[in-house]
Amino acid sequence: MGELKKLICPKCGHTVKFYEGVGMLWYFIDKNAFYPPKNSTDINFYKELDKKMLEEIHNFLKESEDVSVEAGYQPYICKKCGKIVTKIDFTIGSGNKIYTPAYTCNCGNEYAKLTEEEQQHVLCKECGSEMMCELTGFWD
Ligand SMILES: [Zn+2]
Ligand SMILES: [Zn+2]
Repeated sequence: MGELKKLICPKCGHTVKFYEGVGMLWYFIDKNAFYPPKNSTDINFYKELDKKMLEEIHNFLKESEDVSVEAGYQPYICKKCGKIVTKIDFTIGSGNKIYTPAYTCNCGNEYAKLTEEEQQHVLCKECGSEMMCELTGFWD
């Protein structure tokens, strides 16, 4: 089960919502998740990833056999401008090769994973106060 979380600034009220973890169906993910979906009910990342990344993934898959895929939602933070987003974090493995995504913020800086520990110490990008992290729900 995945978690829905919220960061709230106690001083200015600035709020950021994000989610993380894996849903039940996510355990059955395979490489088809990176190609256009056949059924609307399939777990599919095709629409959520940008073209360039899909190209890299397709090249990786073309050269690989016995591929295993693990994926989950993960919050990321841009340490330059403070933006927090939820992205799919995944690992495609084949033998001793792996592919993992690198996401870039609109400001040009590369996003870093926002770990559970760091979620407790996020500074508000509006006013600089330490934000409070709350668990607000779950998703499958
Ligand atoms: Zn940024
Ligand atoms: Zn604030």
